[in-house]
Amino acid sequence: MVTVKTSTDEPKFKEVYCADCKMVLARYSIKYFTDTDINELVHVHYSAHIKEGHAIETRLAM
Ligand SMILES: [Zn+2]
Repeated sequence: MVTVKTSTDEPKFKEVYCADCKMVLARYSIKYFTDTDINELVHVHYSAHIKEGHAIETRLAM
C-alpha cells in the first residue's frame, strides 16, 4: 500500500519511506517524476517490501 501525502510547501523531492524497515528507500525529484511515475518505480524496484506487506509511504522532502 502506497500512501501519498501532500503539503502546501514547495518541495523538491519525494521520499519513498518503508515504515517497517525504518529507512528511506529512494528520493525522486518532483520536477522529473509524477506521483504515478513514483508509484510505478516503487512497485518495480521495491516490490519485495510490498510483497512482505511493509508499509511504504511517499512523502515530501525538501
Ligand atoms: Zn521494507
